[in-house]
Amino acid sequence: MPPDSPRTSVLGFGIDSLDLPALLSRVESFLSSGAPRQLITANALMLLAARENPALAEAFRAADLVVPDSAGVAMAGRWRGRPFPATIPGVELIEHLCRRAAETGRSVFFLGAAPGVAEKTAERLKEKYPALRVAGTENGYFRRETESLAILAVARAAPDLLFVALDVPRQEIWIRQNLGRLKCKIAMGVGGSFDVLSGRLKRAPRWMRIAGLEWFFRLLQEPSRAVRMSRLPEFFFRVLLDRP
Ligand code: UDP
Repeated sequence: MPPDSPRTSVLGFGIDSLDLPALLSRVESFLSSGAPRQLITANALMLLAARENPALAEAFRAADLVVPDSAGVAMAGRWRGRPFPATIPGVELIEHLCRRAAETGRSVFFLGAAPGVAEKTAERLKEKYPALRVAGTENGYFRRETESLAILAVARAAPDLLFVALDVPRQEIWIRQNLGRLKCKIAMGVGGSFDVLSGRLKRAPRWMRIAGLEWFFRLLQEPSRAVRMSRLPEFFFRVLLDRP
């Protein structure tokens, strides 16, 4: 489907240039139409991975909406002379979408993270938005043999919005490959967001988020992230090489 908002290319992948109200109204129009859609929140490491992983690259190209999620992607937009009107981290987008879903009676499904985390996420969001219709929850530690049961659980619930918290790039590829079977209207990969929304992990303080240092806070909380984050300088280097 051709995008109807301007897209900026970062490392060869189109990212939609939308502010939050425009993004929410785009989501609303997707919910009112028939076809299932994929929404990707893109960060620097995902874009680097997509250069090397054809299935992830295909998910990026086929996605109906690609939202800039991180300070790195925001910076790439500025360097290209096309700053994004907003950077919307997945963890915030879930909240906006759940608030809107509660107002409009849309249902949501939380799939992913360790056992109990998706339930706790749903519980917390329901405390905040009591009218939120939770169609179901499932943990993300299914095996190949039980994967079809997880898909069936979502398909039976036929939610309007499906949040998928698996690891990157698996979640984007998984959504792309299963979108037709999931019977949801919009599916979105949300990485570690349930861990934050459920209260299992803390989010960076506001000043760090504003300073673009959320990645550093996450590194302090989960030092095992150091290996994948060591590729961040490569992202900036490649964006510089990629300048028009
Ligand atoms: N996860 C999962 N099943 C798996 C592997 C990971 O549900 O087989 C979950 C994990 O519990 C975590 C999320 O996927 O909640 C991945 O989070 P991570 O912080 O790695 O992702 P990021 O936010 O960096 O994209």
